Amino acid sequence: MIRARFAPSPTGDLHVGSASTALASFITAARVSGVNVLRVEDIDTPRVVRGAAARIVEDLHWLGLGWDEGPEAGGVFGPYVQSARTDSYARAIEALQARAMVYPCDCSRAEIAARTTEASAPHGDELVYPGTCRDLPRDREMKRPPALRLRIPDDAMVTFEDGVVGAVTSNVSTQCGDFVLQRGDGLYAYHLAVSLDDLAMQVTDVVRGRDLLSSTARQILLMRLLGARAEEIPRYTHVPLVLGKDGDRLAKRDPRVVVRELRAAGVPAEAILGVLAKGLGIVPDASPRSAKELARIATLPFSGEPFCYDDSALA
Ligand code: GLU
Repeated sequence: MIRARFAPSPTGDLHVGSASTALASFITAARVSGVNVLRVEDIDTPRVVRGAAARIVEDLHWLGLGWDEGPEAGGVFGPYVQSARTDSYARAIEALQARAMVYPCDCSRAEIAARTTEASAPHGDELVYPGTCRDLPRDREMKRPPALRLRIPDDAMVTFEDGVVGAVTSNVSTQCGDFVLQRGDGLYAYHLAVSLDDLAMQVTDVVRGRDLLSSTARQILLMRLLGARAEEIPRYTHVPLVLGKDGDRLAKRDPRVVVRELRAAGVPAEAILGVLAKGLGIVPDASPRSAKELARIATLPFSGEPFCYDDSALA
């Protein structure tokens, strides 16, 4: 049974980029009568916008991209909101600590930057950690509340087969080094939460935006270290990013790409879905279509090419 999930962070309103990911994930499960899970990723509290989760839920309903498990629907793997799952994140860190796989790090960002190079980072700027605190005594006096880092093993090569990109091999040591599991201010890191939740919710297919491709090796490595068996690790599919009309990065607050603004302007949900489905390469043309119809007629795999969200087709 396919179990796909859409995992938005409620940091703003749903735009056509995230709607495209939601559609891709929905189609992956719905076309084979699988299960769609909606999970609200609200642990990065300073970035969370009040009311955004409820608005995203409403916009997804309006688009017809429903879910079988998640907020409102419930389900056996709940809660489906990360802020209600932090106990499991704390337990996982304790389990890794018991195996000496976690250490405190009181380096400032400037200190790390002075010793290293930029890494590719989907969630905030991240640097390749040079291992400064790896072997320092744990009971030393800390300069600031320490972050907790994962001591990654010497062999940190990860290979996986992406549903769009094909075979991907990354070395987590050179990609980011010992990465943070919990920040000095207590916030749990995205990679920890997402890996634990995808395992706990028995997700078989992670379908998400290409901007997250570089985080996958880290997540697979972490899942393995947390004891996941090979068959428990999801398949990953990174769908192309949606670009603005001019081919640039999507301006996420531009009313022409915000789903509820399009709705307020009278654009039908089916028109938006049709354009996105064409861009994702799962239908031959951009005719308006419902999510249900798309689940019936979509042909996979998804395209690998980024596409512009061209609203002139919707005029
Ligand atoms: N919550 C993440 C985001 O909105 C997505 C996480 C994921 O799909 O793995 O960027």
